[in-house]
Amino acid sequence: MSDLVLKNGVIYTADIFDGIVEAAAIKDGKIIYTGDNRGVINFTGPTTEVIDLNGKMVIPGLWDTHIHMPGAKLTELYHINLYDSKNPEEAIKTIFDYIKARPDKPVYYGGGLAPDIFSGEELLHGPKKERLDKICPDKPVIITFNDLHGCWLNSKALEINGITARTKPPEGGVIEINPETGLLWGILKENAMELVKFEEFSGDENIDALKEFQKMMHGYGYTAILAIDSPAECLTALDRRGELNMRISGSFVFYPDKPINEQFDELKKIRDAYDCALVKNNVIKIFVDGVVEHGTAYLHAPYLEGGRGPGHRGIFLWNSEILTQTFIKANKEGFQLHLHSIGDAATSKVLDALEAAKKTTGSGDYRNTITHLQLVAAEDYARFRELGVIANLQPYWAFKMPSVWEKIDLPKLGERAWHQQPIGSFFKSGVTVTASSDYPVTLYPNAMRAVKIAVTRDDSSPSHYQDYAVKNGRGAEKKEADIAERVSITQILRAFTINGAYSTFNENITGSIETGKDADLVILDNNLFNIDPLSIDKVKVEKTIFRGKVVYEAGNTQ
Ligand SMILES: [Zn+2]
Repeated sequence: MSDLVLKNGVIYTADIFDGIVEAAAIKDGKIIYTGDNRGVINFTGPTTEVIDLNGKMVIPGLWDTHIHMPGAKLTELYHINLYDSKNPEEAIKTIFDYIKARPDKPVYYGGGLAPDIFSGEELLHGPKKERLDKICPDKPVIITFNDLHGCWLNSKALEINGITARTKPPEGGVIEINPETGLLWGILKENAMELVKFEEFSGDENIDALKEFQKMMHGYGYTAILAIDSPAECLTALDRRGELNMRISGSFVFYPDKPINEQFDELKKIRDAYDCALVKNNVIKIFVDGVVEHGTAYLHAPYLEGGRGPGHRGIFLWNSEILTQTFIKANKEGFQLHLHSIGDAATSKVLDALEAAKKTTGSGDYRNTITHLQLVAAEDYARFRELGVIANLQPYWAFKMPSVWEKIDLPKLGERAWHQQPIGSFFKSGVTVTASSDYPVTLYPNAMRAVKIAVTRDDSSPSHYQDYAVKNGRGAEKKEADIAERVSITQILRAFTINGAYSTFNENITGSIETGKDADLVILDNNLFNIDPLSIDKVKVEKTIFRGKVVYEAGNTQ
């Protein structure tokens, strides 16, 4: 007899046939039956809990294969939380209210500020210190941007950290100076942030933030993630307390300017010390280029505007030979690669290096991944398949968000922008696709929203980008280029489930609803196949089950 029976549902199994069944039975955390309602009777005893799904949909537990943990949770718990502030007034009010409510704090820290909510000279240099001085003249206020590439300080914070208008910024850093007065602006960027003393969190504070993160993820139906810059030690502590209820593949960033062997030695130490049943620390994250917004993504053809001078194509951050040697060593020593590549030329160069590495590593099963892939050269899709490289995509970004599309994508990329954030092309080329949010870059990692966008290439407004295309005299063939990147519901569900499991060598344990696998699954409150695709993001998770145990239940805030 089984512990739990689900019947009368639309259970999408994500098996190789994309099978759909009515019922499933679970015992000791494993799936012991999938099939029709009649067959599940044999697994139903007096002590079996039976859930009548009533036509609702069940999918395998979701995988987010590129996510930052605990993301915004430390800020939400302990600091001024500016992640939701949509304009300067809201941000100022949030900071003011926080300080007023906590008059005894010696230093005020905040995070999540979007620097692009400001305008004019403050969009260029960042918000001015005077805004903070007005709220808090006598104690330091230190606010970090949501992209972690800059921070905003009041005069007291600059003073306490010993920063003056004459301070020389460290290499790769910027101390913004007011060009009119020659005085400090109140903004430090990139490596200049090293000059500031930030709050260090205790082990318990970190663990509480991880628990909040896990709770959020269970609420969206996730039972597994690939964590970027994984907090390995805290995860082990959480696991020892018996409170870790998700699978984690941990990744660690390698830098081109640090000795490669030292970085391998460090990572091996982490792997030896902190690997446990649910946590594997065996992924190397490498940035090979930057982002289109800053003109640092590496492109085949120059930026139309916003590059660093005419003909600027962005930056490739690694020497190809060192990159190839790093790939070889990684795969030979049992590490997987997770490679940030945004520009089309960056991806071509990464594929070249992976191809060169393969000459040494042979045809081993390494499951290396390239992530983001905003622009991809047409001839490169097939190379992913040939080299067995996985494409990790963020469907959340695959629609024409008015602010980004009009201010960044179209002016910087022109015609190419119509081909960005491809998903369909990867599937058509037979590439293994995985999906992720890059939370907190995507602030709400609601996979249902990602499914909706992947299927429709659209978000809140069903006609926005088409209207925009028409207004700007852009022809139908341009729209076609974007529409061609649409995928089916089952394709994108596979990316979020079985393909995620495959990408981390977990496909024999989980990722699909099949007999013998762990019972990692999600009950949704509706059937995705039966509703208007543009309303898929309204579908909610009712229950998340991890290894047979309910870890999230809607309405239960516990
Ligand atoms: Zn990321």
